[in-house]
Amino acid sequence: MTESRLEALPLREELKGQSPYGAPQIDVPAMLNVNETTYDVPADVIDAIAKEVRGAAETLNRYPDREFTTLRQKLAGHLNAETGLELSAEQIWAGNGSNEVMQHILQAFAGPGRSVMSFPPTYSMYPLYARGVYSDYIAGTRGPGYTQDPEDVAAQIREHRPNVVILCSPNNPTGTALDLSVVEAAYAAVEESETMLVVDEAYGEFRQPGTPSALSLLESRPRLIVTRTMSKAFALAGGRLGYLAAAPEVTDALRLVRLPYHLSAVTQAAACAALDHAENLMANVERIKTQRDRIVSELTTMGLQPYPSDANFVFFGGLEDARAAWQHLLDDGILVRDVGIEGHLRVTAGTEEETTSFLTSLQAYLQHR
Ligand code: PMP
Repeated sequence: MTESRLEALPLREELKGQSPYGAPQIDVPAMLNVNETTYDVPADVIDAIAKEVRGAAETLNRYPDREFTTLRQKLAGHLNAETGLELSAEQIWAGNGSNEVMQHILQAFAGPGRSVMSFPPTYSMYPLYARGVYSDYIAGTRGPGYTQDPEDVAAQIREHRPNVVILCSPNNPTGTALDLSVVEAAYAAVEESETMLVVDEAYGEFRQPGTPSALSLLESRPRLIVTRTMSKAFALAGGRLGYLAAAPEVTDALRLVRLPYHLSAVTQAAACAALDHAENLMANVERIKTQRDRIVSELTTMGLQPYPSDANFVFFGGLEDARAAWQHLLDDGILVRDVGIEGHLRVTAGTEEETTSFLTSLQAYLQHR
Protein backbone atom coordinates (compact mmCIF):
# COMPACT_ATOMS: atom_id res chain seq x y z
CA MET A 1 0.00 0.00 0.00
CA THR A 2 1.13 3.55 -0.64
CA GLU A 3 1.20 4.66 2.99
CA SER A 4 1.69 8.39 2.59
CA ARG A 5 -1.09 8.85 0.01
CA LEU A 6 -3.43 6.67 2.07
CA GLU A 7 -2.83 8.89 5.07
CA ALA A 8 -4.06 11.88 3.08
CA LEU A 9 -7.51 10.31 2.68
CA PRO A 10 -10.32 10.94 5.18
CA LEU A 11 -10.28 7.27 6.24
CA ARG A 12 -12.37 5.91 9.13
CA GLU A 13 -10.37 6.48 12.33
CA GLU A 14 -10.20 2.78 13.29
CA LEU A 15 -8.79 1.83 9.85
CA LYS A 16 -5.83 4.19 10.08
CA GLY A 17 -2.52 2.33 10.30
CA GLN A 18 -4.22 -1.08 9.90
CA SER A 19 -3.06 -3.84 7.52
CA PRO A 20 -5.34 -5.81 5.19
CA TYR A 21 -5.63 -9.62 5.37
CA GLY A 22 -2.58 -10.80 3.47
CA ALA A 23 -1.51 -14.44 3.43
CA PRO A 24 1.39 -14.43 0.94
CA GLN A 25 0.48 -15.61 -2.59
CA ILE A 26 3.83 -16.88 -3.88
CA ASP A 27 3.96 -19.20 -6.87
CA VAL A 28 6.16 -22.09 -5.64
CA PRO A 29 5.93 -25.85 -6.32
CA ALA A 30 4.28 -26.64 -2.94
CA MET A 31 1.78 -24.00 -1.81
CA LEU A 32 0.81 -25.27 1.62
CA ASN A 33 -0.11 -22.05 3.42
CA VAL A 34 -3.84 -21.40 3.01
CA ASN A 35 -5.37 -24.86 3.49
CA GLU A 36 -6.66 -25.31 -0.03
CA THR A 37 -7.05 -28.78 -1.54
CA THR A 38 -3.88 -29.06 -3.60
CA TYR A 39 -5.17 -31.80 -5.93
CA ASP A 40 -6.26 -30.63 -9.39
CA VAL A 41 -9.97 -30.32 -10.13
CA PRO A 42 -10.95 -33.61 -11.86
CA ALA A 43 -11.41 -33.29 -15.64
CA ASP A 44 -15.07 -34.39 -15.65
CA VAL A 45 -15.88 -31.79 -12.98
CA ILE A 46 -14.16 -29.09 -15.06
CA ASP A 47 -16.35 -30.11 -18.02
CA ALA A 48 -19.53 -30.09 -15.92
CA ILE A 49 -18.75 -26.65 -14.47
CA ALA A 50 -17.90 -25.26 -17.91
CA LYS A 51 -21.21 -26.58 -19.28
CA GLU A 52 -23.29 -25.04 -16.46
CA VAL A 53 -21.42 -21.75 -16.64
CA ARG A 54 -22.00 -21.66 -20.39
CA GLY A 55 -25.73 -22.05 -19.74
CA ALA A 56 -25.56 -19.23 -17.19
CA ALA A 57 -23.75 -17.04 -19.71
CA GLU A 58 -26.85 -17.14 -21.91
CA THR A 59 -28.81 -15.45 -19.10
CA LEU A 60 -26.27 -12.82 -18.11
CA ASN A 61 -28.39 -9.97 -19.48
CA ARG A 62 -30.73 -10.67 -16.52
CA TYR A 63 -30.07 -10.52 -12.78
CA PRO A 64 -29.55 -13.96 -11.22
CA ASP A 65 -32.02 -15.73 -8.92
CA ARG A 66 -31.76 -13.54 -5.82
CA GLU A 67 -32.82 -16.45 -3.64
CA PHE A 68 -30.35 -18.91 -5.25
CA THR A 69 -33.08 -21.51 -4.79
CA THR A 70 -31.52 -24.42 -6.68
CA LEU A 71 -28.19 -23.91 -4.97
CA ARG A 72 -29.80 -23.83 -1.51
CA GLN A 73 -31.65 -27.06 -2.27
CA LYS A 74 -28.45 -28.74 -3.39
CA LEU A 75 -26.54 -27.49 -0.34
CA ALA A 76 -29.27 -28.82 1.98
CA GLY A 77 -29.16 -32.15 0.16
CA HIS A 78 -25.39 -32.25 0.51
CA LEU A 79 -25.45 -31.61 4.27
CA ASN A 80 -28.29 -34.12 4.74
CA ALA A 81 -26.29 -36.78 2.89
CA GLU A 82 -23.34 -36.16 5.24
CA THR A 83 -25.27 -35.99 8.50
CA GLY A 84 -28.50 -37.94 8.02
CA LEU A 85 -30.41 -34.79 9.09
CA GLU A 86 -33.40 -33.34 7.26
CA LEU A 87 -32.39 -29.73 6.78
CA SER A 88 -34.58 -27.75 4.38
CA ALA A 89 -33.48 -25.18 1.79
CA GLU A 90 -35.04 -22.46 4.02
CA GLN A 91 -32.37 -23.26 6.61
CA ILE A 92 -29.51 -22.64 4.19
CA TRP A 93 -27.80 -19.35 3.34
CA ALA A 94 -24.76 -18.80 1.12
CA GLY A 95 -22.31 -16.08 0.13
CA ASN A 96 -19.10 -15.44 -1.78
CA GLY A 97 -17.01 -17.56 0.58
CA SER A 98 -17.82 -18.18 4.23
CA ASN A 99 -16.08 -14.84 4.79
CA GLU A 100 -19.09 -13.10 3.27
CA VAL A 101 -21.51 -15.37 5.11
CA MET A 102 -19.81 -14.37 8.37
CA GLN A 103 -20.00 -10.71 7.39
CA HIS A 104 -23.76 -11.09 6.82
CA ILE A 105 -24.11 -12.69 10.26
CA LEU A 106 -22.27 -9.82 11.93
CA GLN A 107 -24.14 -7.18 9.93
CA ALA A 108 -27.40 -8.67 11.19
CA PHE A 109 -26.50 -9.55 14.78
CA ALA A 110 -23.50 -7.38 15.72
CA GLY A 111 -22.88 -3.84 14.35
CA PRO A 112 -22.15 -0.52 16.09
CA GLY A 113 -22.25 -0.61 19.88
CA ARG A 114 -22.34 -4.40 19.87
CA SER A 115 -19.59 -6.98 20.34
CA VAL A 116 -18.14 -10.13 18.82
CA MET A 117 -16.18 -12.73 20.78
CA SER A 118 -13.86 -15.51 19.65
CA PHE A 119 -11.03 -17.43 21.26
CA PRO A 120 -7.49 -16.82 19.90
CA PRO A 121 -5.40 -18.29 18.55
CA THR A 122 -8.13 -18.72 15.97
CA TYR A 123 -9.00 -17.58 12.45
CA SER A 124 -7.35 -14.19 12.06
CA MET A 125 -10.30 -12.70 10.16
CA TYR A 126 -12.70 -12.70 13.14
CA PRO A 127 -11.44 -9.41 14.63
CA LEU A 128 -11.36 -7.93 11.11
CA TYR A 129 -14.98 -8.88 10.45
CA ALA A 130 -15.86 -7.20 13.76
CA ARG A 131 -13.95 -4.05 12.83
CA GLY A 132 -15.65 -3.96 9.42
CA VAL A 133 -19.11 -3.78 11.03
CA TYR A 134 -18.04 -1.25 13.72
CA SER A 135 -18.31 -3.82 16.52
CA ASP A 136 -16.08 -4.30 19.54
CA TYR A 137 -13.98 -7.45 19.50
CA ILE A 138 -13.55 -9.51 22.66
CA ALA A 139 -10.68 -12.02 22.77
CA GLY A 140 -11.61 -14.97 24.97
CA THR A 141 -8.96 -17.26 26.41
CA ARG A 142 -8.14 -20.95 26.03
CA GLY A 143 -6.80 -23.56 28.44
CA PRO A 144 -3.52 -25.47 28.30
CA GLY A 145 -2.57 -26.68 24.80
CA TYR A 146 -5.12 -24.21 23.35
CA THR A 147 -8.02 -26.43 24.49
CA GLN A 148 -11.52 -25.18 25.29
CA ASP A 149 -13.43 -26.48 28.23
CA PRO A 150 -17.28 -26.29 28.41
CA GLU A 151 -17.51 -24.60 31.82
CA ASP A 152 -14.77 -22.10 31.02
CA VAL A 153 -16.25 -21.12 27.63
CA ALA A 154 -19.71 -20.69 29.17
CA ALA A 155 -18.29 -18.62 32.05
CA GLN A 156 -16.47 -16.27 29.63
CA ILE A 157 -19.64 -15.80 27.57
CA ARG A 158 -21.64 -15.07 30.75
CA GLU A 159 -19.01 -12.56 31.86
CA HIS A 160 -18.81 -10.59 28.59
CA ARG A 161 -22.32 -11.11 27.17
CA PRO A 162 -21.18 -10.50 23.55
CA ASN A 163 -23.76 -10.27 20.76
CA VAL A 164 -22.05 -12.89 18.60
CA VAL A 165 -19.78 -15.71 19.78
CA ILE A 166 -17.70 -17.55 17.18
CA LEU A 167 -16.35 -21.01 17.96
CA CYS A 168 -14.08 -22.46 15.29
CA SER A 169 -14.20 -26.25 15.03
CA PRO A 170 -11.86 -27.66 13.84
CA ASN A 171 -9.95 -24.57 14.91
CA ASN A 172 -7.63 -22.70 12.58
CA PRO A 173 -4.65 -22.66 13.25
CA THR A 174 -4.53 -25.34 15.96
CA GLY A 175 -6.50 -27.97 14.01
CA THR A 176 -8.52 -29.37 16.88
CA ALA A 177 -12.28 -29.98 16.75
CA LEU A 178 -14.48 -29.13 19.71
CA ASP A 179 -16.37 -31.69 21.68
CA LEU A 180 -20.10 -31.03 21.29
CA SER A 181 -20.30 -30.49 25.06
CA VAL A 182 -18.46 -27.17 24.50
CA VAL A 183 -21.03 -26.06 21.91
CA GLU A 184 -23.89 -27.14 24.18
CA ALA A 185 -22.45 -25.26 27.17
CA ALA A 186 -21.84 -22.16 25.02
CA TYR A 187 -25.42 -22.35 23.74
CA ALA A 188 -26.83 -22.53 27.26
CA ALA A 189 -24.86 -19.35 28.03
CA VAL A 190 -25.91 -17.44 24.88
CA GLU A 191 -29.57 -18.14 25.62
CA GLU A 192 -29.23 -15.98 28.74
CA SER A 193 -28.34 -12.82 26.79
CA GLU A 194 -28.85 -11.15 23.40
CA THR A 195 -26.33 -13.47 21.75
CA MET A 196 -26.00 -15.62 18.65
CA LEU A 197 -23.61 -18.59 18.58
CA VAL A 198 -21.71 -19.38 15.38
CA VAL A 199 -19.71 -22.58 14.90
CA ASP A 200 -17.31 -22.15 11.99
CA GLU A 201 -16.86 -25.61 10.47
CA ALA A 202 -14.79 -24.56 7.44
CA TYR A 203 -12.76 -27.75 7.97
CA GLY A 204 -15.64 -29.89 9.22
CA GLU A 205 -15.29 -32.57 6.54
CA PHE A 206 -11.80 -33.50 7.77
CA ARG A 207 -12.86 -34.33 11.35
CA GLN A 208 -11.50 -37.47 12.96
CA PRO A 209 -14.08 -40.25 13.32
CA GLY A 210 -16.22 -39.86 16.42
CA THR A 211 -16.25 -36.03 16.48
CA PRO A 212 -19.77 -35.08 15.39
CA SER A 213 -20.66 -31.85 13.57
CA ALA A 214 -22.50 -29.09 15.41
CA LEU A 215 -25.12 -29.41 12.64
CA SER A 216 -26.56 -32.21 14.79
CA LEU A 217 -27.40 -29.60 17.47
CA LEU A 218 -29.41 -27.26 15.21
CA GLU A 219 -32.80 -28.78 15.99
CA SER A 220 -34.55 -26.55 18.57
CA ARG A 221 -31.59 -24.17 18.89
CA PRO A 222 -32.68 -21.04 16.97
CA ARG A 223 -29.62 -19.03 18.01
CA LEU A 224 -27.11 -21.54 16.64
CA ILE A 225 -25.51 -21.07 13.21
CA VAL A 226 -23.11 -23.56 11.62
CA THR A 227 -20.98 -22.26 8.74
CA ARG A 228 -19.28 -24.36 6.07
CA THR A 229 -17.36 -23.64 2.88
CA MET A 230 -16.71 -25.18 -0.52
CA SER A 231 -13.15 -23.75 -0.36
CA LYS A 232 -11.48 -26.60 1.54
CA ALA A 233 -12.70 -30.23 1.28
CA PHE A 234 -14.70 -29.33 -1.83
CA ALA A 235 -11.60 -28.14 -3.68
CA LEU A 236 -13.42 -25.01 -4.88
CA ALA A 237 -11.60 -22.11 -3.19
CA GLY A 238 -11.58 -20.17 -6.46
CA GLY A 239 -15.34 -20.58 -6.85
CA ARG A 240 -15.94 -18.49 -3.67
CA LEU A 241 -18.88 -20.25 -2.10
CA GLY A 242 -19.48 -20.44 1.63
CA TYR A 243 -22.75 -21.38 3.32
CA LEU A 244 -24.49 -21.93 6.61
CA ALA A 245 -27.29 -23.90 8.18
CA ALA A 246 -29.52 -22.42 10.88
CA ALA A 247 -33.16 -21.92 11.79
CA PRO A 248 -35.23 -20.47 8.89
CA GLU A 249 -35.69 -17.19 10.78
CA VAL A 250 -31.91 -16.71 10.77
CA THR A 251 -31.84 -16.77 6.99
CA ASP A 252 -34.73 -14.25 7.04
CA ALA A 253 -32.53 -11.98 9.16
CA LEU A 254 -29.60 -12.29 6.75
CA ARG A 255 -31.81 -11.37 3.81
CA LEU A 256 -32.14 -7.93 5.46
CA VAL A 257 -28.43 -7.15 5.11
CA ARG A 258 -27.24 -8.89 1.95
CA LEU A 259 -26.75 -6.83 -1.16
CA PRO A 260 -29.24 -7.62 -3.93
CA TYR A 261 -28.15 -10.48 -6.21
CA HIS A 262 -24.96 -11.04 -4.20
CA LEU A 263 -24.38 -14.48 -5.73
CA SER A 264 -23.73 -14.10 -9.45
CA ALA A 265 -25.32 -16.45 -11.98
CA VAL A 266 -21.82 -17.71 -12.75
CA THR A 267 -21.09 -18.48 -9.09
CA GLN A 268 -24.44 -20.23 -8.67
CA ALA A 269 -23.92 -22.31 -11.81
CA ALA A 270 -20.38 -23.33 -10.88
CA ALA A 271 -21.36 -24.25 -7.32
CA CYS A 272 -24.41 -26.25 -8.47
CA ALA A 273 -22.29 -28.20 -10.97
CA ALA A 274 -19.69 -28.87 -8.27
CA LEU A 275 -22.38 -30.09 -5.87
CA ASP A 276 -23.66 -32.48 -8.53
CA HIS A 277 -20.15 -33.96 -8.49
CA ALA A 278 -19.61 -33.76 -4.75
CA GLU A 279 -18.47 -37.33 -4.40
CA ASN A 280 -15.84 -36.97 -7.10
CA LEU A 281 -14.61 -33.58 -5.81
CA MET A 282 -14.34 -34.86 -2.26
CA ALA A 283 -12.66 -38.12 -3.24
CA ASN A 284 -9.32 -36.75 -2.07
CA VAL A 285 -10.47 -35.99 1.48
CA GLU A 286 -9.38 -39.42 2.72
CA ARG A 287 -6.00 -39.09 0.98
CA ILE A 288 -5.50 -35.66 2.55
CA LYS A 289 -6.40 -37.06 5.99
CA THR A 290 -3.80 -39.80 5.49
CA GLN A 291 -1.11 -37.19 4.73
CA ARG A 292 -2.24 -35.08 7.71
CA ASP A 293 -1.88 -38.05 10.06
CA ARG A 294 1.48 -38.84 8.47
CA ILE A 295 2.68 -35.27 9.12
CA VAL A 296 1.65 -35.51 12.79
CA SER A 297 3.46 -38.80 13.25
CA GLU A 298 6.64 -37.84 11.36
CA LEU A 299 6.96 -34.44 13.05
CA THR A 300 6.68 -36.23 16.40
CA THR A 301 9.52 -38.56 15.33
CA MET A 302 11.59 -35.47 14.42
CA GLY A 303 11.19 -34.26 18.00
CA LEU A 304 8.73 -31.47 17.16
CA GLN A 305 5.33 -30.96 18.83
CA PRO A 306 2.43 -31.27 16.39
CA TYR A 307 -1.09 -30.74 17.72
CA PRO A 308 -3.73 -33.41 17.07
CA SER A 309 -5.59 -32.34 13.92
CA ASP A 310 -9.18 -32.74 12.71
CA ALA A 311 -8.47 -30.46 9.76
CA ASN A 312 -6.47 -30.53 6.50
CA PHE A 313 -3.46 -28.90 8.15
CA VAL A 314 -1.12 -29.42 11.08
CA PHE A 315 0.03 -26.84 13.61
CA PHE A 316 3.32 -27.66 15.23
CA GLY A 317 5.74 -26.22 17.77
CA GLY A 318 9.21 -27.04 19.00
CA LEU A 319 11.13 -24.86 16.51
CA GLU A 320 13.82 -22.62 17.92
CA ASP A 321 13.35 -20.09 15.15
CA ALA A 322 10.09 -20.50 13.23
CA ARG A 323 10.93 -17.68 10.82
CA ALA A 324 14.24 -19.32 9.82
CA ALA A 325 12.48 -22.67 9.30
CA TRP A 326 9.80 -20.93 7.22
CA GLN A 327 12.47 -19.31 5.04
CA HIS A 328 14.38 -22.59 4.63
CA LEU A 329 11.20 -24.31 3.43
CA LEU A 330 10.44 -21.43 1.06
CA ASP A 331 13.95 -21.62 -0.39
CA ASP A 332 13.12 -25.28 -1.15
CA GLY A 333 9.90 -24.21 -2.91
CA ILE A 334 7.54 -25.00 -0.02
CA LEU A 335 5.28 -22.26 1.32
CA VAL A 336 3.84 -22.83 4.81
CA ARG A 337 2.20 -20.44 7.27
CA ASP A 338 3.82 -18.49 10.04
CA VAL A 339 0.82 -17.56 12.19
CA GLY A 340 2.91 -15.37 14.47
CA ILE A 341 3.11 -17.81 17.40
CA GLU A 342 6.68 -18.20 18.59
CA GLY A 343 8.34 -21.48 17.64
CA HIS A 344 5.30 -22.65 15.66
CA LEU A 345 4.29 -23.07 12.01
CA ARG A 346 1.20 -24.43 10.25
CA VAL A 347 1.34 -26.63 7.16
CA THR A 348 -1.47 -27.74 4.85
CA ALA A 349 -1.66 -31.48 4.13
CA GLY A 350 -1.27 -31.72 0.36
CA THR A 351 -0.57 -34.60 -1.98
CA GLU A 352 1.80 -37.39 -0.92
CA GLU A 353 4.60 -35.81 -3.00
CA GLU A 354 4.11 -32.35 -1.48
CA THR A 355 4.05 -33.84 2.01
CA THR A 356 7.24 -35.75 1.30
CA SER A 357 9.03 -32.63 0.06
CA PHE A 358 7.87 -30.68 3.15
CA LEU A 359 9.02 -33.38 5.57
CA THR A 360 12.35 -33.87 3.77
CA SER A 361 13.11 -30.16 3.71
CA LEU A 362 12.19 -29.68 7.37
CA GLN A 363 14.28 -32.69 8.39
CA ALA A 364 17.27 -31.22 6.53
CA TYR A 365 16.71 -27.86 8.26
CA LEU A 366 16.63 -29.48 11.71
CA GLN A 367 19.83 -31.44 11.01
CA HIS A 368 21.83 -28.50 9.72
CA ARG A 369 20.75 -25.63 11.87
N1 PMP B 1 -13.16 -19.94 8.40
C1 PMP B 1 -11.95 -20.48 8.61
C2 PMP B 1 -11.67 -21.11 9.92
C3 PMP B 1 -10.97 -20.43 7.61
O1 PMP B 1 -9.76 -20.93 7.85
C4 PMP B 1 -11.28 -19.81 6.37
C5 PMP B 1 -10.27 -19.72 5.24
N2 PMP B 1 -8.98 -19.79 5.55
C6 PMP B 1 -12.55 -19.26 6.22
C7 PMP B 1 -13.46 -19.36 7.23
C8 PMP B 1 -12.95 -18.53 4.97
O2 PMP B 1 -13.00 -19.32 3.88
P1 PMP B 1 -13.83 -18.96 2.56
O3 PMP B 1 -14.19 -17.52 2.61
O4 PMP B 1 -12.92 -19.31 1.44
O5 PMP B 1 -15.05 -19.83 2.62
